[in-house]
Amino acid sequence: MSLLEVRELKKYFSVKKGLFSKEVAQVKAVDGVSFKLEQGETLGLVGESGCGKTTVGRTLMRFVEPTDGRVFFEGQEVFQMGPSAMRQLRSSMQIVFQDPYSSLNPRMSVGNIIAEPIQNHLSLTKVEVRIRVKELMEKVGLHPGHVTRYPHEFSGGQRQRIGIARALALNPSLIICDEPVSALDVSIQAQVINLLVRLQREENISFLFIAHDLSVVEHISHRVAIMYLGRIVELASDKEIYERPLHPYTQALLSAVPIPDPGRKTKRIILQGDVPSPLNPPMGCNFNTRCPFAKDICFQEDPPLRQQEKGHLAACHLLN
Ligand code: SF4
Repeated sequence: MSLLEVRELKKYFSVKKGLFSKEVAQVKAVDGVSFKLEQGETLGLVGESGCGKTTVGRTLMRFVEPTDGRVFFEGQEVFQMGPSAMRQLRSSMQIVFQDPYSSLNPRMSVGNIIAEPIQNHLSLTKVEVRIRVKELMEKVGLHPGHVTRYPHEFSGGQRQRIGIARALALNPSLIICDEPVSALDVSIQAQVINLLVRLQREENISFLFIAHDLSVVEHISHRVAIMYLGRIVELASDKEIYERPLHPYTQALLSAVPIPDPGRKTKRIILQGDVPSPLNPPMGCNFNTRCPFAKDICFQEDPPLRQQEKGHLAACHLLN
């Protein structure tokens, strides 16, 4: 049994077609996403802004309700859970948000921010809570003596460490990392990613690591799923994705990543145009408006996500 299994997840939003229109259209933010995540594994979920990756994370947490699909976490069906099971789920599945500047309550001390989930979910004495908070601060590389400080007294990277300490407070099995390093400088990004790698090794936590850049997930992911316009277009081990990407969109994303390894050669692929509006996606393959290899069938038929090789899935007519 996988820790997390997502089957055909869909989230559609109804929006007015224009400022002066009463017509309503559906935006398919997430349109049939399926994947599994094992204990102690990191799955990178990568795509450009608006591809639906953040909506996947928020739907799993039930911050938004799905339109369709099923999700199993530790064998339980998440969308069928009542309030008590959801409370348990919230301790086992945590989220770290993108913006360390706005995701922490500025009026609470760091100690209280980290203590809050412990006090809400566990029956510990005040002394035990204090000890646990200081342990968590040490674990993420914060000075436990700074427990009475406020978020504005910390740098961006330190604030993200506070968010991670809070997420760890209840010993979760899974942490959804929603672009946790996008707002940080590159050198600080590496420190936070190294921290997550170490925590995974020590605590056997699973991460769903959401990012818009393949270079960010390379050093943390065991497998990578690439999303485009609400769908996964390729899913494979990190080695396969970085060394043998099959889908033209993955190849283009990868060609934009700076390469520290001179042995890995890629030719830059410049994609034409922008991502189409999800209000009006193209017929056939979603990627056909930007794909340098599009052929007739790409404008007529939507390619299914198929296993091309063991554990390597891709959705493209060129491969069938
Ligand atoms: Fe490009 Fe066609 Fe493959 Fe879509 S199906 S990625 S348009 S070649």
